Amino acid sequence: VQGSREFHPEDTVIQTKHSVIGGDNFSLMAGPCSVESQEHVLKMAAVAKASGATILRGGAFKPRTSPYSFQGLGEDGLKFLRKAADEYNMDVLTEVMDDEHVEMVAKYTDIFQIGARNMQNFSLLKAVGKTNIPVMLKRGMSATVDDILNASEYIAADGNHNIMIAERGIRTFDNKYTRNTMDVGVVPVLQKLTHYPVIIDPSHAAGHTEFVTPLALAGTAAGASGLVVEIHDDPAHAFSDGAQALKPNEYKEMAEKALAIRDLL
Ligand code: PEP
Ligand code: MN
Repeated sequence: VQGSREFHPEDTVIQTKHSVIGGDNFSLMAGPCSVESQEHVLKMAAVAKASGATILRGGAFKPRTSPYSFQGLGEDGLKFLRKAADEYNMDVLTEVMDDEHVEMVAKYTDIFQIGARNMQNFSLLKAVGKTNIPVMLKRGMSATVDDILNASEYIAADGNHNIMIAERGIRTFDNKYTRNTMDVGVVPVLQKLTHYPVIIDPSHAAGHTEFVTPLALAGTAAGASGLVVEIHDDPAHAFSDGAQALKPNEYKEMAEKALAIRDLL
């Protein structure tokens, strides 16, 4: 198994144009849930960069629970995201939802995101596995640790070893107050079993702005290699996931605290 520590004892370190992910590094990734416009994503890139983020996230293809919710700007959104990242010397992280889109999304992104709902979309995993673009594989909401590792193996089996795994919360018996339950224990567990960097997404776990920072800090303290966080300057009017967005000043504070905790490890 190529993802296992037995096969490869050293940490995988992923090098992109503006970031080094894994090993002793700690990476901040931030941006809006959805790319909304050129102007807006430029503004969010500035906010992310000002707090030390080197990776700009943003969805142009959105896996929405309802087909009637905003589905993303598509390729136009990718162009807006690319331009914003270039303007601030950042890398792009964006979701690819369909194996038929891999080639097109590859023209714009530095890191593919595989969403939680697609963690076991094996044709998609194989398609990104055939590229040499790094992949952030998000844990499915009901996926066990072995399910995640097997999903990552689908990417590695086709030759792409630049994989990171993101914990974004799972479904448990009580998700009345949080959107999902962040499995903080999975950080050291995955680090024991695999050499891939483990990233925490506190936003989709929390579901509510007020819980995002505590979860981000918990994930950092557990030893995650990075945080991917949704930010927005006007959450009430966000196209998606406004309820869990951190405002610019909130993100700045979160990032400062996370970096301070990371320094203690
Ligand atoms: C997202 O990153 O905006 C997203 C849809 O995440 P997830 O796949 O974890 O729900
Ligand atoms: Mn989102």
